[in-house]
Amino acid sequence: MGILHPRHVAGAFAVLALMGSSALARTNPLLQPSTLPYEAPRFDLITDADFAPAFEQGMLAQNNEIHAITVNPDRPDFVNTIEALERAGRTLHRVDMTFDNLYSANSNPRLDAIKTKFAPLLTQHEDEIYLNTALFNRVATVYQKRNSLDLTQEQMHVLTEWYQRFLHAGASLSSREKTRLKDLNSKLSVLESSFQQKLVAATKAAGLVVDVEKKLSGLDANALNTAFGAAEAAGQKGRWLVPLQNTTQQPSLAVLKDRETRQALFQKSWTRAEQGDGNDTRALIVRIAHLRAEKARLLGFRNYAAYQLENQMAKTPEAANDFMNQLVAPTRAAQDEEEQALTQLIQAEGSTFSLAPWDWDFYADKLRRKTLGYSEDDLKPYFELKTVLEDGVFYAATSLYGITFNQRHDIPVYQSDVVVYEVRDKDDAPLGLMYFDYFARDNKFGGAWMSNFVEQSKLLNQKPVIYNVGNFVKAAPGQPQLITFDDVITMFHEFGHALHGLFADQVYPSVSGTNVARDFVEFPSQFNENWALYPKVFAHYARHYQTGATMPETLQKKLFDARHFNAGYRLGEVVSAAMLDMKWHTMSPLRKIKDVDRFESTTLEKSGLDTAHVPPRYRSSYFLHIWGNGYQAGYYAYLWTQMLDHDAFDWFKKHGGLTRANGQRFRDLVLSRGHTEDYDAMFEAFTGHAPDIKPMLDFYGLKTD
Ligand SMILES: [Zn+2]
Repeated sequence: MGILHPRHVAGAFAVLALMGSSALARTNPLLQPSTLPYEAPRFDLITDADFAPAFEQGMLAQNNEIHAITVNPDRPDFVNTIEALERAGRTLHRVDMTFDNLYSANSNPRLDAIKTKFAPLLTQHEDEIYLNTALFNRVATVYQKRNSLDLTQEQMHVLTEWYQRFLHAGASLSSREKTRLKDLNSKLSVLESSFQQKLVAATKAAGLVVDVEKKLSGLDANALNTAFGAAEAAGQKGRWLVPLQNTTQQPSLAVLKDRETRQALFQKSWTRAEQGDGNDTRALIVRIAHLRAEKARLLGFRNYAAYQLENQMAKTPEAANDFMNQLVAPTRAAQDEEEQALTQLIQAEGSTFSLAPWDWDFYADKLRRKTLGYSEDDLKPYFELKTVLEDGVFYAATSLYGITFNQRHDIPVYQSDVVVYEVRDKDDAPLGLMYFDYFARDNKFGGAWMSNFVEQSKLLNQKPVIYNVGNFVKAAPGQPQLITFDDVITMFHEFGHALHGLFADQVYPSVSGTNVARDFVEFPSQFNENWALYPKVFAHYARHYQTGATMPETLQKKLFDARHFNAGYRLGEVVSAAMLDMKWHTMSPLRKIKDVDRFESTTLEKSGLDTAHVPPRYRSSYFLHIWGNGYQAGYYAYLWTQMLDHDAFDWFKKHGGLTRANGQRFRDLVLSRGHTEDYDAMFEAFTGHAPDIKPMLDFYGLKTD
């Protein structure tokens, strides 16, 4: 949950006055910093029509700024090159940050069309900056003399980052190689978009249609109505259609009583993109994997994963694989136990079939009700949204970091459900602004995320303006706004990202706050989830919306124990998917995969996990994260950061838990640091040791012997 949108618009951030029409600059509210508190976006003035000209002006302005850097007659130094790069592109960055929020959280066909038009132009714009030889030569010159420049630690990090970013993008290649690289990049971007589109179409086409309502026994009335309506909308009036979700397992598999229906739905999911028709993605992913391997080779790496992990905390595919292999034995042991318990349940019911992947969720759900004995409905009255936010999420942050929150009604919002809070530091100094946009809408992407409207930077005199987005079900008018426990965890998670952004204390925007590696960025967010079930915090927010009573201890304990339930399955499906990802991206460019299914099944068989009962969360042919969403050779990061988060929380538990002193230490050593230090150094400064996997295994109740 909670993918942070990666956003690294090149060069990103500039202060200079705009080129071009001054009339435009006066009327387009995106073209200058807002005069509202914290430079909050002018949602009261911005219209959809402002974006296209603002993107164009922003790119033009950044090009002019880059040109000014390259023709500067002075010898390259930190200020006239690196600092100038940090200042460049500020307008484009502002436009992009604002646009991306609206496009993801509150879109419409006009914004979609702007996205389609500008996405490739922005990629090209970025390529032109990173493959600009004159610019790279200046950066390289500064980098070569870095030790004689008397730089601060942050400056040294910024300089190294810029230099490596250029190298990573291919700046040191010959012009012939650059031509080849641009060709590979453009082919890859076409193929990746094609994958996205085929997958959307394949997923839509693969929904399960049934003729008889009885086949869907177990679905509630609401879900049945939705399925009936979905079939009608798809031209199959009088039938029922269960649409597919992105993962292998489908939510209805937990409740569908008819085993044939479960099997049919699972098969639809598993083979959605392998129908041998125009939406079959197999040939496409072989081509993408091959071109990526070739790109990595061109850039001097032995495989694509080695290229991708160079600037990550794990650093090499071997380190990521070693980490995953440590999870295999304990996860497998738990999977075997879970499989036996489910098999016993099936037999106890008098059935003779053996457990298949499409049975797992159905029987696990039965077992959950039997052993834990509570339902989501028992919990919900204790989770009222505003109480969870103010008495849970904010309360934990105040207890740990001393910060305080005041709702602001004077800051314009982009949608009427959005609420804004001002955050003040321990000494009441202004810290930043927080927007919360929690409710599902049909013009919003799925899932939950955090990002910035304005990034903290002392160079640019900016304080953070941050938003959290969710997809919670909105209560009917007049009803209390109750949420699920999953939603509660999501709130703590996304607010963990927000703290990372709020406490940012950097001079340079490119290393500020959450601008860190993928396998580090989920550390503060997952860490913050731990406070949701921390007794003192839980008792403070989990109160009955009518009576104000705290949750009964027995129910609370069951909720706590649920962390261990089905852990072998939950962890195993992620580990096997991460292994598939790594296998595809450690392939040599000389290898030609002929049979995708065989490549996949061999990899899964060799994993050591029970992949016969626990299929990967995503199969190769519909693994959007790695073929179309930028997480290639990076899916392991979700697991890696869990190791960091549980290990850090273990430190808290050993040092008195929820205290101001502990929180301050975490803020000083991790949350305020952005990317001004190496990730392992930052982690070790806090915990006193290299990341240890044991607290993560303990959290899941996995045996470590
Ligand atoms: Zn996240």
